[in-house]
Amino acid sequence: MARGDHVDLAGFMDGVRRRNPGQPEFVQAVQEVAEDIYDFFESHEEYHAEQILRRIAEPDRVVSFRVCWEDDRGNIRVQRGWRVQNNNAIGPYKGGLRFHPSVTESVLKFLAFEQTFKNALTGLPMGGAKGGANFNPRGKSDREVMRFCQSFMTELYRHVGADVDVPAGDIGVGAREIGYMFGQYKRITNQFTGVLTGKGLEFGGSLIRTEATGYGAVYFLENMLAHRGQGIAGLVCTISGSGNVATHAAEKLVQLGAKPVTLSDSDGFIHVPGGFTQEQIDWVKDLKTVRRGRIAEFAEAFPAASYHEGERPWGVPCDVAIPCATQNELDEDDAKRLVANGCIAVVEGANMPTTLGATHYLKASRVLFAPGKAANAGGVAVSGLEMAQNSARISWSEEQLQQLLKDIMKGIHDRCVKWGTEADGHVDYVKGANIAGFKKVADAMLAYGVV
Ligand code: GLU
Repeated sequence: MARGDHVDLAGFMDGVRRRNPGQPEFVQAVQEVAEDIYDFFESHEEYHAEQILRRIAEPDRVVSFRVCWEDDRGNIRVQRGWRVQNNNAIGPYKGGLRFHPSVTESVLKFLAFEQTFKNALTGLPMGGAKGGANFNPRGKSDREVMRFCQSFMTELYRHVGADVDVPAGDIGVGAREIGYMFGQYKRITNQFTGVLTGKGLEFGGSLIRTEATGYGAVYFLENMLAHRGQGIAGLVCTISGSGNVATHAAEKLVQLGAKPVTLSDSDGFIHVPGGFTQEQIDWVKDLKTVRRGRIAEFAEAFPAASYHEGERPWGVPCDVAIPCATQNELDEDDAKRLVANGCIAVVEGANMPTTLGATHYLKASRVLFAPGKAANAGGVAVSGLEMAQNSARISWSEEQLQQLLKDIMKGIHDRCVKWGTEADGHVDYVKGANIAGFKKVADAMLAYGVV
């Protein structure tokens, strides 16, 4: 093929499908970006000629490794661990670790690909990566989790480093797991460096890292509404999930006078028509991080709540839906139900919680749709600030960090508006996020030549 010749979008996606057999999540994530980027290429032939998207959609490397550990009954267990280092054009690889039975290479490749654009959007110097294992922390003792984390880090330490690749948490990886992994890294290398983020405050963690993803998603919503001259107070919001992102999104909504009415886990959802109180949100945080119980228990403790086993919350009428659980948890039928019930905005607190069909439907219905790579970037942004504090060996105040998070979310919003505003003033936030994220990484890659 002569330099400058290029395949069309369908041909490009055929190639992605062919090269990544059995990896539907990864193909889906690439397609969502490619759909927007291809139009943009019309006026930027150099991105085509230099095969930039083709290169970003091929991870720099995928490391796969065996993780052996011993359970409390003395059985030897074997899991598979991965680190997908997608792209480090604009900074060290950065992205979370996910421990969940649903983890596959496809899931981690999609997450690492998304992370590349998300991290670029924050404006901070971070490349994109993701990792994890098909380990199920549910029902495991603290000691079992510790042994697994130590074994996982015993291999991972070769591939990471404060200036190389800085993992953090994601589903199934919170403060407890980060503590165990940081302890093992320090033990093996004898170095105290900022190799992980989401650390405890006693050993280099940053204030508001825990709150940042959920708070940031709500700040993004506030910015989208303000751009249309609307406020957030009084809005009824359905939320899925009950982890770190969901509970802190609910908390920020309450602080801003909005009404979060649902939370969920993989067994079902709870509905509090009058809206959660801060006390109830604290109860859920304790349930999920300390007692490690199921969301059904909430309805037993608080009679104002109803529990809906085996269901997701998207049938509950709302102004705003904030999916904060996992990928592909909101499908086209859910999207139709949301629109029919008058929903004006969908904010992705999780990574790719909306299927491609649902995304197309919401976009066509002119719902304000905030893609995860923009809306949930607050978490990794504060991770970036944790890295900066670790490098400088200082800790910033909560006030400073709150302001930085707000400013970063506003910056991401404004970048989406810059690249996603259509002729009639409607903002396509997916397109805006994809182009803004892509452009920064792509321009750095152009500067490096063919590497
Ligand atoms: N796992 C989070 C995300 O999806 C945070 C990653 C990080 O802090 O590095 O962005």
